[in-house]
Amino acid sequence: MFLMIKLSRSAVELSLKCKRCFVLQYRYRVSLRSLPFTLNSAVDNLCKNEFDYYRANEKPHPLFIEHGIEAIPFKHPDIDRWRNFRQGINFVDEENGFNFYGAIDDVWVKPNGELIISDVKSTSKKIFDWDKTWSEYDYPKGYRRQLEMYQWLFRKNGFKVSDTAYLVYYNGLKDEPMFGQVLKFELHLVQLECDDNWVEKAIINAKNLMGSEDLPYGSSKCDTCQYLKKRWNVKNKSF
Ligand code: SF4
Repeated sequence: MFLMIKLSRSAVELSLKCKRCFVLQYRYRVSLRSLPFTLNSAVDNLCKNEFDYYRANEKPHPLFIEHGIEAIPFKHPDIDRWRNFRQGINFVDEENGFNFYGAIDDVWVKPNGELIISDVKSTSKKIFDWDKTWSEYDYPKGYRRQLEMYQWLFRKNGFKVSDTAYLVYYNGLKDEPMFGQVLKFELHLVQLECDDNWVEKAIINAKNLMGSEDLPYGSSKCDTCQYLKKRWNVKNKSF
């Protein structure tokens, strides 16, 4: 029987990070609970409201002018669906049997009709140094993969998409002398050159994992799995 599998952008990302966690979560519905990042969501929403003002007025956001980006926020009848995490933008591949979807933060449009994908991030660092973060950690590469998956989705939906994407990055200032119930932010724009060539293969691999009876191995570098393993060892030790 032909099976159509629905896969989200975050599911495919998890399949790249850890096959075992992906299979546990999406095939067997076993996952660790995580708390929602409500402060980050508040920043996302405030940023959305601000960019929507410029979208409605068909004007560039001041950030575009400051960084020489010739674009305006994209006005499209589906923008709210694309940004809704329960819907997003999707692509159905009948041949390979998957329905892949992801919810964007925003998309901008250049005068030539080419789209620019962007995502909002927030953090709180004493010094915001993207190059250092990129060289020291894995998670920024995950941010680029996220943008590449969105680019792939928009291309598959027939749009012309720029390889250049942006992270609109808010850095919360934690050393202000007075709080006064006001959290202040610096705003950084991170430009990323992307390549979505790997995306289709990754979706197909994730789909195949969903259909496999095997439970892949976890990682010896993962703190959570090591913790669970040690608990298991303690439980099975006879004192
Ligand atoms: S190593 Fe274990 S806990 Fe860590 S991500 Fe993989 S399955 Fe999950």
